[in-house]
Amino acid sequence: MRRSKKHLAVASAAALLIVVPAGVSANAWAQSNSNSEVASDGLALASGEPGMWVIDGISADQAQALLVDGVDVVDVDTDTAMIIADADEAEELRAEGWDIGFHDTVYKDVPPTAAQDQYYGGYRTAAAHEANLHNVANANPDLAQVFDIGDSWLKTQGQGGHDIWAICLTNIQPGDCERNPDSDKPRISIISQLHAREISTGEISWRFIDHLVAGYGSDPRVTDLLDSTEIWIVPIANPDGVDIVASGGNQPLLQRKNANTSYGNCTGTRIGVDLNRNHNFKWGGAGTNPCGETYQGPSAGSEPETQALESLFASIHPAQKGPGDNDPAPADARDVMISIHSFGEYIIHPWAWTTASAPNRTELRNLGLQMAQSNGYLVGTAAETVGYLAPGGTDDFAYGTLGVASYTFEVGPRWGQCGGFLPAYSCMDSQLWEPNRDALLTAAEAAAVPYQS
Ligand SMILES: [Zn+2]
Repeated sequence: MRRSKKHLAVASAAALLIVVPAGVSANAWAQSNSNSEVASDGLALASGEPGMWVIDGISADQAQALLVDGVDVVDVDTDTAMIIADADEAEELRAEGWDIGFHDTVYKDVPPTAAQDQYYGGYRTAAAHEANLHNVANANPDLAQVFDIGDSWLKTQGQGGHDIWAICLTNIQPGDCERNPDSDKPRISIISQLHAREISTGEISWRFIDHLVAGYGSDPRVTDLLDSTEIWIVPIANPDGVDIVASGGNQPLLQRKNANTSYGNCTGTRIGVDLNRNHNFKWGGAGTNPCGETYQGPSAGSEPETQALESLFASIHPAQKGPGDNDPAPADARDVMISIHSFGEYIIHPWAWTTASAPNRTELRNLGLQMAQSNGYLVGTAAETVGYLAPGGTDDFAYGTLGVASYTFEVGPRWGQCGGFLPAYSCMDSQLWEPNRDALLTAAEAAAVPYQS
């Protein structure tokens, strides 16, 4: 049991009472009672293998309570919640009274992966991403420059780990791609795989980098963009976590957090701090169970990965917002930040820490809607999209402290071969990259005056 028992009464008292008929196996019951998206191979989940499950008849508050309790709640709708759990964990929730049904497998069929630096059909490891950034910069010195922005937790402990890398892309002129917030050109920051298991997101960054350097001088849209704007990308924001994910090979481990083992007696993929709950803005109110998936850490900005991102943002984006929650960024404020996550097909704008409206809500939403013209995603706040609050996130930090127009993308559908955390690699180009390419270009093109889109 991963959760502390003391919280269970809260969930149970509020839950619907569903009785599994005698003589019917739990899996068969789950399959016959969940919704029409049920996959027949749910019966084939091996012991301990994670699957995606749907809880019906659950309120947003109840889902939030389960999440804070350590359940891996990944999406909340009007009266349903999607969770990741193995069959035993699902059975425990059912025993508590929740109406839970099997929804989809986590692992999709994958062709054998030959390359050393790939896993699960072609996804690139953290080391491959790092090598790629250096290769791109070496091959395109007039367009790209790499920066070591800090250390992963394991590296700070002398236990291997990684430097965290950013790449700056622009038609480099004197003064460009320097860590100085008063740059001549407006900037967009893009980060991915802050949640390590969201494996499609680093691949989207990889493709965006390729698209920019390959298109300069031939693609007019890309050429104009790189002549006018700096694009800063951190493809692997949580490299220790990505190493854990990739260590599973064709069954990637579902590590979400970083690899910090300082807190709690957590095992397996339950170790670490949720880096998207750890930021130094409105920190607190997320998970306090160190083994929970949304563990916020012991204090705001406690993790080296968080510190690396925050110092990068503060060094390249001007501070443009007053200190009050309702102080807007001015209409002529510049710069955009996008944190790419999966899944759900959402474009999320601040606030995520509260249901209250951000002072630039209308303008943030307008640019979100413009980006959504290419990917078709639902635009809204965290409460309006994923259905739960996410205090301490990167988007609220970048908007709340600097006034940068900030977004979280949740790429990819909820289920199916191209859905969930681990879409088949064959889905990457047509289902995940191509629908988001123009959304990212639109965001970058708006960097000069994002609140006037
Ligand atoms: Zn995420």
